[in-house]
Amino acid sequence: MLYKILDKKDFKDFVNNLISAYEVTAPKKISQALHDFFPIKSYEEMDLSYKRTTLPPAKKMLFPSNEALASYTVGNNIEVKSLNESKEQLLFGVGAWDINGMNFLDRIFSTDFIDENYMEKRKKLKVIGIDAEPSDANFASSVGSEFAKEGFDLFLSDIGDKYFVRIGTAAGAEIASKFGDFLDASDVDYSAYDRQMDLYKNKFNVNVNLDNFFENFEIVYGKKDLWEKLAKSCFSCGSCNLVCPTCFCFNVRDDIKIDLAGGIKSRQWDSCMISNYGLVAGGHNFRPDEANRLKQRYRCKLKTFVEKFGQYSCVGCGRCVEACLAKINIYEDINAVKEEVSI
Ligand code: SF4
Ligand code: SF4
Repeated sequence: MLYKILDKKDFKDFVNNLISAYEVTAPKKISQALHDFFPIKSYEEMDLSYKRTTLPPAKKMLFPSNEALASYTVGNNIEVKSLNESKEQLLFGVGAWDINGMNFLDRIFSTDFIDENYMEKRKKLKVIGIDAEPSDANFASSVGSEFAKEGFDLFLSDIGDKYFVRIGTAAGAEIASKFGDFLDASDVDYSAYDRQMDLYKNKFNVNVNLDNFFENFEIVYGKKDLWEKLAKSCFSCGSCNLVCPTCFCFNVRDDIKIDLAGGIKSRQWDSCMISNYGLVAGGHNFRPDEANRLKQRYRCKLKTFVEKFGQYSCVGCGRCVEACLAKINIYEDINAVKEEVSI
């Protein structure tokens, strides 16, 4: 890791230089209360003061909600053509928890099998992170996601009249030397950065204690009453999955031409919280009710990948809490599990 500083007076030029060289996707203000990541054409379009975006930017770019995978023709021979649209892109201004969410997807789509559609896009994506403002529901610091150790080319931290910049990759070093007036960090800058990081950790209002959750969850897993109580207002809408930076389930669909001469195979985001997710041929549903689906979602987020990868598959972004019309809240439910065990 290399450490540099960028004076704020040079920041606008840096961003505009990037825009002239890359397709840059950055946070934009959509309405009074809403930001989202979109391609930008000038520095002025960007608004880094966002607290959250409805959809996680890296997931939206690397694993689109609807993606064509292959086309095929059926004649004397069957011909299959892979459809994989990838291009050089730069994601600017993404927060640490969303970088950690992307790091999780990187592991999912490159472990056990290589998902070419995802990985091709990922290889061509440059990432510049920033210490974004956590929203009121953000509990990233409780799951160790408020800080990104990897997954970015550059990461910017505001230390007053300049940014302290961590350079994470060779591509990041090239970006810094080509597009900005980056200087070596001095001892004073390192001290300012340490102070800033201490202050930054205090911006996370929600603290969740996950100690023993792993063990406690198994103790309460069979307690039907508890899960029915926690899931009782769930509409099975699936919003919590769709907004989640780490949810990766998808369905594959065939759109076949009416003459059966060929078709397109595509994938769409799926949701483990909707009623037909566990439905199989013959009409049996492995996850027939809301309570069953909710506890399985929590198992996936907070237990399964602790066993598989040694990490939660929840980065604490709080999006599912804010998206849920039924006010089902993952961090309150973590506490509910703890309370149930202590009764
Ligand atoms: S928990 Fe909330 S967001 Fe998720 S499916 Fe149920 S109602 Fe929808
Ligand atoms: S489960 Fe909720 S809080 Fe955790 S990463 Fe997904 S959307 Fe964010």
